[in-house]
Amino acid sequence: MATIPRRYGCCLSLERLMLSEHSVGVGQRIRAAREARGWSQGALASRLGRTQTAVSYWESGNRALALDDLIAVAEVLGVSTASLLPDSRSQRSAPALLRAVAERVDAGQLADELEEFALKAQVEPRLQTKWNIEPASPRDTAEALLAIAGINDTPVPVVELATGCGIRVLPWSFDNVDGLVVDLDNGPTIAYNRSQPHTRQRFTIAHELGHHLLRHTDRFYVDFGNELAPLAAGDHPGYDWRAERSANEFAANILMPSPMIRQSFGQTPDVRALAKRFDVSSAAMSIRLTALRLK
Ligand SMILES: [Zn+2]
Repeated sequence: MATIPRRYGCCLSLERLMLSEHSVGVGQRIRAAREARGWSQGALASRLGRTQTAVSYWESGNRALALDDLIAVAEVLGVSTASLLPDSRSQRSAPALLRAVAERVDAGQLADELEEFALKAQVEPRLQTKWNIEPASPRDTAEALLAIAGINDTPVPVVELATGCGIRVLPWSFDNVDGLVVDLDNGPTIAYNRSQPHTRQRFTIAHELGHHLLRHTDRFYVDFGNELAPLAAGDHPGYDWRAERSANEFAANILMPSPMIRQSFGQTPDVRALAKRFDVSSAAMSIRLTALRLK
């Protein structure tokens, strides 16, 4: 859908980092599981609808798998995806993992900023979870949260919604990160960039809340700003446009719920006035109105 804001073009997640960082280990595990089945590389390849060369590259660690490929390989081999990943996932702390992600895309201060953030956040008190939301489509998940929280009025209190879901929301000084969500030992945490405009911060918080509630399966997501996004996206196995698209769709639905937008638009069909009322950027409102076919 081209109607969703593009600025969250990149997001790195842990599983993807592991795939690229540990491609040799992953390859060895695939080879062992394949051989246990008594299959040749060609046999595995044909079951996957891939070439034997691709399987050969993965097994030698010369090329990292995309997460989709890992899932397909595990399914065909009849093993869990976790069994194909190296074990360091549980051994490395969140601050160390965030540092590792940052170091992959940026040689500057970002690694320090992310690590410092995680170190500080992990000593914050745990929050109580008022509302448990089951993951569904982005829209249904957003509407379920709005309903359980009894939100009928603008602007939607996005920090309050996140907090009610047991997620702490903290501002941080990042150079090139819009925001992130990370599962710490003391509970999930969203960080947003304190130097960005207020409306963008709200969108970031909603986007990260989407990653969490939609169970984008990973221990963390880091959303890079425009400057770093091209480095972290593209060929990088960390790029997951589906998760980004869902998180953006969730954000649009939580900040600009369809019934509330339709009602307000009936009274005031003006993008800037509506943007102000919903406390979002005019650009985000404009995209939302187009998506709802109101303009
Ligand atoms: Zn994201």
